[in-house]
Amino acid sequence: MAVVHVACIYCQQAFNVVKNGKAETGHQWYRCKDCNKSFQPEYRYNGNLPGTHEQIIKMTMNGSGVRDIGRVPEISPTTVLARLKNSTRQQ
Ligand SMILES: [Zn+2]
Repeated sequence: MAVVHVACIYCQQAFNVVKNGKAETGHQWYRCKDCNKSFQPEYRYNGNLPGTHEQIIKMTMNGSGVRDIGRVPEISPTTVLARLKNSTRQQ
């Protein structure tokens, strides 16, 4: 049996990562026992990548429009609007 160590994309630990089911697309989900976050090693849609939300907020603060922001990480303007709408709820 081959053992594959997957490093957590949040805390970079590789020894406390366990499988955590599969996505609808068939990609494997993993969960880190150290930081208790779930992740996929590779995402199909760039809008779900860690750090995309922070990039949207930074570009908004620098005066970029919704369609400009969507073009850079290649995500939908609808996703950009939803993230901005939800970020105002959290504050
Ligand atoms: Zn972790």
